Amino acid sequence: MADLPDKRTAPIDWYLAVVEAADLSDKRYGIKGMNVWPRYGFRARRNLDRILVREIEATGSEAVEFPALIPANEFAKEKEHIKGFDAQVYWVTRGGLSELDVPLVLRPTSETAMYPIFALWVRSHQDLPLNVYQIVNTFRYETKTTRPFLRVREIHFFEEHTCQLDEDRATDRVRSNLDAFARMAGAFCLPYLAVRRPDWDKFAGAHYTIALDIPIGGARTLQIGSVHHYRENFSVPYRISYETATGGRANVHQTTFGLSERLLGAIVAVHGDERGAVFPSEIAPYEVVIVPIPTATARAAIEAATRELADRLARAGLRVFLDRGEERPGAKYFRWELRGVPLRLEVGGRELEGRRASAVDRLGTRSTVALENLETEVAERLRAFDRELMRRAQVAFRESFSVATDLSQLNGSTRVRVVGWCGSEACGHEIEKAIDGALLGVPEGTPPAVEGPPGPCIACRRSDGVRWAFAAQPI
Ligand code: ZN
Repeated sequence: MADLPDKRTAPIDWYLAVVEAADLSDKRYGIKGMNVWPRYGFRARRNLDRILVREIEATGSEAVEFPALIPANEFAKEKEHIKGFDAQVYWVTRGGLSELDVPLVLRPTSETAMYPIFALWVRSHQDLPLNVYQIVNTFRYETKTTRPFLRVREIHFFEEHTCQLDEDRATDRVRSNLDAFARMAGAFCLPYLAVRRPDWDKFAGAHYTIALDIPIGGARTLQIGSVHHYRENFSVPYRISYETATGGRANVHQTTFGLSERLLGAIVAVHGDERGAVFPSEIAPYEVVIVPIPTATARAAIEAATRELADRLARAGLRVFLDRGEERPGAKYFRWELRGVPLRLEVGGRELEGRRASAVDRLGTRSTVALENLETEVAERLRAFDRELMRRAQVAFRESFSVATDLSQLNGSTRVRVVGWCGSEACGHEIEKAIDGALLGVPEGTPPAVEGPPGPCIACRRSDGVRWAFAAQPI
């Protein structure tokens, strides 16, 4: 198999080669940007979804599922929303041979599918909060170059939609979503930024948007999700109101929390190396691969022993693959490293005699595992692997940023830039022009790479109301 392109000098080529060679996505389907999930990639996706479900349900959210088609008249009710999405949606205009009276939109996101029904579900203050989520495919007519997981036309999408009593409760829900994402990101071993987007870049129809951004090398960042506070922006046009405890009426305040398959792209881009993908154990399609090293005299004994080890690990709840193929062990090591399996166990004649297995994790750490303690020792190795993966990711994350104090430093930047910004839109656009990218916005909490408060605005030099902000090249 050909070597992978160099990750540092050709990151996009490297990314595309890893996604294809590791069998994560098949882009040969007959519609650009609508890709097939092959078996191995689908396993990773299912593990990812399991973590999203676990963490959002821990906050009291419940699963629902709404139809994929939305009547055009419902879609058009919130004006900012329709303006933001109009050019990106697929339209269904015919049913069989007849033109439809009301054209249908293939959902780009589900506000306008859900909220007419929320208006029926929410009657009184006792129906609140309403916290529901769905994991479905959404569709966007993407005109730019498509990339597996990063920019696609059919998107595997997690979306939570909530209705709250008032603005403060909705603010609390935003906070709770950010906390849930922190736990999810821990399982993905992914450091990230939570950034309040500038007004000109918030979600169409939102009061404000907090985006989740991941630095992926150079000045580039990847937005993998967002949390929005809608205030009453949707509940007024969709008439989602309730009877208050004192008998009056009030509109609900709403929030949403969205995450897409870009998460999987971020995991590949951040953790992968010159040998291929590297999966955190909770995401890995297989956590452990067992490679028998047959010898002339002990072939049958080694086969029986490796089968027993695989059974024991599976019974302990681990995702394990016993590679019994005919290839040489070296070829198997190569393939499972490319596919990012966290831990490989090798069992040959010497191991069998010593009642142990040789263990090599995907970051190259070697050890031996005593077969009598197989389950606990393998679990320990996986935990140590995840810790080391997170540590490495955090080192790279901190090195992704540097402070800029003059607009001239933004040109050709090889880091995400941390700058002082007065909050004005004119200065924001000047910063965006200088870095040939975007002003991501103001961080929640203290940004990396800074000491103390910001100096003057990098664009206008005013020093009143200046905050730290990020300038980057989102992909
Ligand atoms: Zn300014």
